[in-house]
Parts: sequence; structure tokens; C-alpha cells
Amino acid sequence: MDDVLSLDVQSGDGKYTKLCHTYLKNYTKNSIPFLTTSCTHSLEMAALLLDIQLGDEIIMPSFTFVSTANSFLLRGAKIIFCDSQKNHPNMDINHVESLITTKTKAIIPVHYAGIACPMDELILIGKTNNIKIIEDAAQGIGAFYKEMPLGTVGDIGCISFHDTKNISCGEGGAILINDPLLKIKAEIIREKGTNRAAYFRGEIDKYGWQSLGSSYLLSDILAAKLFSQLEELDQITNYRKKIWQTYFDALKCLENEGKLALPEIPDFANHNGHIFYLICNSGKERNELITYLKKNQIQSTFHYLSLHQSEFYKNKYVGDDLPNSDHFTECLIRLPLHYTFSLEYQMKVIQAIIMFYN
Ligand SMILES: *Cc1c(COP(=O)(O)O)cnc(C)c1O
Repeated sequence: MDDVLSLDVQSGDGKYTKLCHTYLKNYTKNSIPFLTTSCTHSLEMAALLLDIQLGDEIIMPSFTFVSTANSFLLRGAKIIFCDSQKNHPNMDINHVESLITTKTKAIIPVHYAGIACPMDELILIGKTNNIKIIEDAAQGIGAFYKEMPLGTVGDIGCISFHDTKNISCGEGGAILINDPLLKIKAEIIREKGTNRAAYFRGEIDKYGWQSLGSSYLLSDILAAKLFSQLEELDQITNYRKKIWQTYFDALKCLENEGKLALPEIPDFANHNGHIFYLICNSGKERNELITYLKKNQIQSTFHYLSLHQSEFYKNKYVGDDLPNSDHFTECLIRLPLHYTFSLEYQMKVIQAIIMFYN
């Protein structure tokens, strides 16, 4: 840490940011990565990069975090919510297709729990209809679609390094630019709308205002923390996957008895153990399970309140019913899973769940 505090450059794009960029270049193979202040800001950058205008339509799942929607709403876009799959919180591709109009500018797959969406189908839909694919891979570091890291499959990928994610620098994120034509524009938007990055490279002799933009650079102090986490990415991912698999194997018997459903991992997805969730048979049972675990000093939580049902949006929403999204809002429960988590504690959680169902 002494080293960090004595850094000359503590603002963005210093030594540690460069180390992170190099790491992420190798990790992603084909992407151009930029660290940002958060995944929320990466998504806002994506909306600016695509020049989203008033009335443009953006398709995204309702079962997601608010930032997926806010980033595009801020640009005046119309949010078109699609449903989740019947057996999975990720977006239902058939429903997505039915929502496409001439105004659709982008589709935002959200890789829930670090489990990949069906990207081949989405890429094909994008190509056929001239629609951009922006991956909300906030939960996706260390996870893959086939051989490709999440965030590198669509035109742009957005990753989070918030405390709640697998690796973190407190608050932070990255945007992965997968279309090289967007690189310079991304640099300008990220540098408050100026071409300062080109100036620092010595390509121009003064810099100035080029476009809309904002202050999206991560401080190099946080980049130092992030770099140390990136160096442990494989170790952290493997440990989390081990905990994830232990839950899965131990609770399989309850699924076999029809008492609950476990996460489904499609063949094309190599997940990162970000979240272990159960789907209860009813909302009532889910809430009783949360209460029961709490009585046993075990912290479990529900997840997203579908955005189309939120306080902010429910009166504005005019689209289709989204029964699967509603189902996950009601019945999904997340079990504790953390890198500092011991096997003993996990056994206590598993036993409590089995007790509850018997
Ligand atoms: C965490 C998360 C975000 C926001 O990430 P921040 O880095 O906190 O801005 C966006 N989308 C999803 C799906 C997330 O899980």
C-alpha cells in the first residue's frame, strides 16, 4: 500500500490501470478494455457510444438491476422489457424476437448469476435486424459463453467490480469494446468528451471538446486494488465454483423430490459461481424459508423485484405480462456464498435447508 500512496499518478490511466488493461486484453483476447468507475457507468458509456436518441427502443429483461434500464432511460430511450425463460432468469429469446420493431436499437442480455445467455441466437438476431448487442456482464467476470469470456461476445460488454461481485475494488467496472471502430469514440466519451487520451499518446498537440462525455475513469488507487484481485481471479473463481457445486450436489435430493428447483446451467455456459440460488415452489414458501434461515443465523435473500413492477416504473409500464420474471421475483432465494466462507458454515446452511423441507 505504501507503493500505492506514493504514486505520482493517482487519477485514471496510471500505472495500475495500464496493468489492468493489459490483464484484461489477455483475458478477453479480442476486446479493447477500459476501466470505469462502475458497471453502471460502463452501461451509460454504451448508451452514449450507440448514440441512443429519444424514442429509440432498447430490449432488456425486467428481472435485472436498475442500472441496466437507467443507463438507457437517461438518454431518452424507451425501455422494452422482455420476459425471463421459464426455467431460467435469463432473457427468453422468443419473446425478445416478438418485441423487435424498426425502432429497436439494442438488446441487453444480462448474464444472471454469471450464467451466459444464448448468445449465438442473439448475435444472429442482431446481425439480421441491424441491432447492437450490449452485454450486461456485471456478474460475469471469470465466466464464459462457450470459450468466450462474458462481455466479449456482443458489440460491447459491461463488467462490475463492485464489492458484491466476485472480484472487487470497492466501486469500479470495465467496458469491453469488441467493435474496434468504437475505440476512439469510447476513449473520448470516457475522458469527459475530450480527445485527451490521443494527446497523452502524443498523437495531437492540444486536446479539446469533441463530443458528449463524462468522467468515467477509475482512480489509479482503486486500479491497484483491482489488479491484485485480477491476479487471483482463477483462484477466487475456482473456490466459488466449489462452494456452488457443493450446494448443488447436497440439495439435488430436494429437487428430485419436487420440493424446489436448482439452477440450470446450459451446455454453452461455463459459470463463475457468482450466485447460488434456489427456486421455491411458491412465494410464501420462499419467504418462510428466508425467515427460517434467519432464525438459524443464516442470511439469505431474494433478488430483483422485476423492474416493470417497481415503484418507479409500474405506472409507466404498458408492455406484455412477464409471468416468468414475476415468478423469479417471488420464488428465487440466494444462499450465502463468499470467498471467505468455510465448508463448516456451508454444511450448517445445507442442513438447515434440509431440515426446513422435512
Ligand atoms: C451489479 C450490477 C450492475 C451495477 O454494477 P455497479 O458496478 O455497481 O454499477 C448492473 N447490472 C447488473 C446485472 C448487476 O448485477
